[in-house]
Order: sequence, then structure tokens, then C-alpha cells
Amino acid sequence: MLILFRADASSTDEARAVALIEELGLAAQPIPGLRRRAVVVVGNDGRADPARFATLPGVEEIVPLSKPYRMVARDWRPEPTIVSLPNGLSVGGPDLFIVAGPCSIETYQQISATAAAVRAAGATAIRAGAFKPRTSPYAFQGLGRAGLELLEVVRKETGLLVVTEAMDDETFDEVAAVADVVQIGARNMQNFSLLKRAGRSTKPVLLKRGPAASIVDWLMSAEYVLAEGNPNVILCERGIRGGDSSTRNIFDLNAVAAVKQLSHLPVMADPSHGTGRRALVRPMARAAVAAGADGLLVEVHVQPDQALSDGAQSLYPEQFALMMEEIRGIAAVIGRGLPKSVAGSG
Ligand code: PEP
Ligand code: MN
Repeated sequence: MLILFRADASSTDEARAVALIEELGLAAQPIPGLRRRAVVVVGNDGRADPARFATLPGVEEIVPLSKPYRMVARDWRPEPTIVSLPNGLSVGGPDLFIVAGPCSIETYQQISATAAAVRAAGATAIRAGAFKPRTSPYAFQGLGRAGLELLEVVRKETGLLVVTEAMDDETFDEVAAVADVVQIGARNMQNFSLLKRAGRSTKPVLLKRGPAASIVDWLMSAEYVLAEGNPNVILCERGIRGGDSSTRNIFDLNAVAAVKQLSHLPVMADPSHGTGRRALVRPMARAAVAAGADGLLVEVHVQPDQALSDGAQSLYPEQFALMMEEIRGIAAVIGRGLPKSVAGSG
């Protein structure tokens, strides 16, 4: 970090800053020859808090010299990370990873029929929550352990990979035992103990963007997982909170393109939570693929009108099948494809 002083700052002001840096056990490097005094804090490992220096007499501003994340940055690893999954699938390579299914597991019939439908349309993974983060404590909270058991059954029936959410440290192991990819939801994006727990797991992690998180906040959350030793993080844009009641969220496709530049990690997009409205999901799925998303997470339900959560944004299976055909065409134009589905229809 660089400490820039005001033009009228004195040598005493500079000496005070240097003394504080040295008290912290770090080296201070004044930069001569500028019109203003400036001191670099060398090798700051986090000990020098910019806020402590910003209020010292004579200091005008603190300029960060390095990004607040390291291992997720493109400079750390120039080639894209390809997260390997079972069944020879992967995320971040040329093929898109298509994850579809209901918001929540409700009954065996519901999850089994939905899984069969999305598989027939070419999805490679079923998504559905057993532990649901709901804004109201009185809303359906998911079937819990019984839901995980139903996911196991459906995996055997269909051969689809399973993506499901871990909400807390307490249930992380149970979820990870069933999931091929463990989802960390938007509301938990900054649950640092959960992120560290996921970082000690060997399962790939799908990290959704928090509803009010900046892109940098989101990358720092991914850094927590990588820093604990798990390199297999897939980011997922799912919309950030806006003020317009016509849509549920602002689906930020800028973030998809920006993350591709800032990080080597794969990034998917979730047009279901991004829009909140079934009629908007297909157009925005097409847009997300065009923007360079490495995959899609889409809510599909055999009877969306009876869904216990997120029915209004869940596609009917026929709409999902149409979406798949549309994105197949868009993917081809930008040199990408859909994996050969487990149903063999791809
Ligand atoms: C979900 O995927 O059903 C979900 C709860 O998503 P988010 O965390 O993005 O709200
Ligand atoms: Mn949902």
C-alpha cells in the first residue's frame, strides 16, 4: 500500500507514518522526487490496516498496490481453471455445465419426474435444495436429511450429477456426502466459517454471488475457499438487489464478463433467481451464454404452480427443452457446446 500525503504535509507527518509502519514490524520506503511526500509500506501482510494510516495528520489518501485477493486472480494463474466432475464432465472448458431442477425437493414424485425431464432435455446435473435458506422463518425450510436421501435415489435413477446447498457448518458433511457440487447460496456468500469449511472439503463448490456483494467481495469469498486448500470453485451470478419490482433482482451479466477478466475461475449464471419471472428466464439464459458464462443453473419444476418455493420463476419442462435448443445454437456461434448428455440426446 502507498501512503500519499497532502502537498502541505511536513517531515514530521511523514516520520510519524514511518514510525507506525516500523512499529508494526514492516519496512517503510519513502519515495523521493514527487511533488508530494509518499511512503510505500513494503510487504504488507495485512498488519498495516489502511484505516489506521488514512487518519494520520498530513495523509491525503491510501492507494492499495495489490488486489485484496491473490489465488483467485488471473495474475496468479493465467490459464482458466477447469473444475473436473464425475462422469467425465467439467466446468470451465469448452462445454457448458447445465444444472436444472426445482428450487426445493418436495416429494419423491416431484424430484424424480423433474429429474427425468431435465435429463431428457440434455441437463447434466439435477439441482434442488434439501436445506433451504428462506427469508421468512415460516416459509418451507426444505425436507432436510430426507431430501438428501431423495437426491441419492434420483441420482441412481438418472445418472445426473447432484448440486445441492449446504447452509451451515453443522450439516456441511451430510450435504457434501451426497452432492457432486456443494452450493453455497447467496445469503451465505460471506459466511466465512462455512467458506473455510468448504475450503477443507474435496468437493467442488458453487459459490453464488451475495445479493448486495460487489464483484470484488465475491472474489474475496472465493479466496477463502482456495486459501483453505480447495481450488475447485465455480462462481455463479444470480442477480443483485435492485429497486425495480418488475424483476426480482438485477441480473448482472457485466459480472460474468468482468469475472472472466479478473479471475481464472469458471463462472456460471442463474437466470431464475436473476429475474424471478419464468417469462424472462429463457431470454436471459441466452444472454448469459452469449456473455461467456461457463454454465447455467435453472429452476425447472414439473408443476411450478404447486411448487413450495420459487414456482413463479421455475420453467415447465417444455420451456426448459426449448431453452436448451436455443442455447445450443448460441454456444456453437461462440465456439462452445453442450456436453453429450447422460440421456445420450446431446
Ligand atoms: C437457490 O438456488 O434455490 C437459492 C436459494 O439461490 P440463492 O442463494 O441464489 O438465492
Ligand atoms: Mn430457488
